[in-house]
Amino acid sequence: MANTASLTGSWLDEFPARLSELDQAHLRRQRQVVEPEDGAYLCVNGQRLLAFCSNDYLGLANHPALVQAACDGARAYGVGSGGSPLVSGHSSANDALEHALARFVILPRALYFYAGYATNIGIVPALVSKGDAIFSDALNHACLIDGARLSGAQIHRYAHADMAALEQQLASSPAPRKLVLSDAVFSMEGDVADVPALLALCERHDALLLLDDAHGFGVLGPQGRGCLAHFNLSGQNASPRVLYMATLGKAAGVAGAFVAGSEALVEWLLQKTRSYIFATAAPALLASALQISLQLIEQDEWRREHLQRLIARLRTGLNQGLQGSSWQLGVSPTAIQPLLIGPNDAALGVMQGLRERGLWVPAIRPPTVAEGTARLRIALSVAHTEADIDRLVQALTALAKPAAA
Ligand SMILES: *Cc1c(COP(=O)(O)O)cnc(C)c1O
Repeated sequence: MANTASLTGSWLDEFPARLSELDQAHLRRQRQVVEPEDGAYLCVNGQRLLAFCSNDYLGLANHPALVQAACDGARAYGVGSGGSPLVSGHSSANDALEHALARFVILPRALYFYAGYATNIGIVPALVSKGDAIFSDALNHACLIDGARLSGAQIHRYAHADMAALEQQLASSPAPRKLVLSDAVFSMEGDVADVPALLALCERHDALLLLDDAHGFGVLGPQGRGCLAHFNLSGQNASPRVLYMATLGKAAGVAGAFVAGSEALVEWLLQKTRSYIFATAAPALLASALQISLQLIEQDEWRREHLQRLIARLRTGLNQGLQGSSWQLGVSPTAIQPLLIGPNDAALGVMQGLRERGLWVPAIRPPTVAEGTARLRIALSVAHTEADIDRLVQALTALAKPAAA
C-alpha cells in the first residue's frame, strides 16, 4: 500500500532539521549506558569513571540490606502489583510503608506514589483548578511547573526566593484558593528554601504550601527527617497548611515518592489525584526495600556526617583553586554544588575535560537552567571518599587555568 518512507510535505519531515538545530545550539543530550562499579565509580561505555552525578546522596542504592529486602519482597509479593491502588494494587507492604513514612517525617498521614514526577503533576490539579491561583518559585522543578499548568489555575511566578514578591502577589490575588509551590532544596542550585517565611506568608494569606523535598529527605533535619524537621515544623509544630512531598529514588536509594500532611488533605489527594488513581501501584518489593532504607537513614548518622565533611572539603578546595577564574561556585550547603560556567559550549568543554581525566560531572544547560547559566552540577554522595573530592578539585583547578589567564 502507501509508501510510509515518504513524508514529503508532512510536518513529520521536519524532525531531522529540528534535531540539527539542537546540535547547533549544543542542546542535544546523549544518554550514557552505565553499570555500577565500586564506590562512586561507574562503568560508562566501557570506561571507568569517578561519577559526581548521582542523587544517591547517602550511598544506599546498592546497599546489600536493601537488595536483600527487595528480593524478599519479590518472593513474598511477586514482581508486579497488578493493579491501581484503588482496585487491587495496594499491597500490605505499600500500606505499611505509608505508615512508616508518616511516622518518619512526623506528619499525620502519607500517600505513597510510584514516582515523584507523577506525584506533583497529579496532586497540584487535585488541589486547585480554574479560578484559583498558584504562586511558584521561578526555579521550581519541572514537575511542579507542569502540575501547575495542568491545573488550569492562574500561575504567578515569583523570582527565586523573593519573599517580598511572593507577599505582594498573594496580597493582590482575589482567588478563593491559593497554593504556593516551592522546592525545599532547589535541584540545580542546592540552596534551601526559607520554609518558615513561606509558611508565615501562607498563614497570613490563607494559602496552602506544597514543598517538594526531593533533595532534602534523608539529608536535612535530625535523622534525615527532611526540611520540615530541619525547621522544627513537623510533629507538634506541623501546620495543616503544609503538604510535604519527597521522592524515594534519591537519598532513600530506591524509587517512588510520597506526599504527607493532614488526614483530610491526604485523603482528598487519594480520592482525586488522577496520576494516582489511573496508574498501576508501585511493586511491593520497592516498599520492602524502602522500609530498610528508612531504618538506615534514621540510624546511620555517620552517613550525613561524612557527606557534610565532603561538602566542606569541596567548597574549601574549589574556592581556593578557582580564585581569579570566571567560574562561580553557588552558595549551597547541600550535596548539590553547582559550578556556574555560563555558555553552553564552555560548560560542555569543562565536562569533556573532566571526562578525559576519568571524572564524570554533568553539564546542565537550558532549558533545565536559565539561558547563559550553563553549569556543572556536582552531586556528592556518601559513596565518595575525601581523596575522590581532592581529585575533582585538582582537575577543575587545572581546567580553570586557561580561563584565568
Ligand atoms: C527528581 C525530582 C522529582 C521527580 O522525582 P522522580 O521520583 O524522579 O520522578 C521531583 N521533584 C524534584 C525537585 C526532583 O529533583
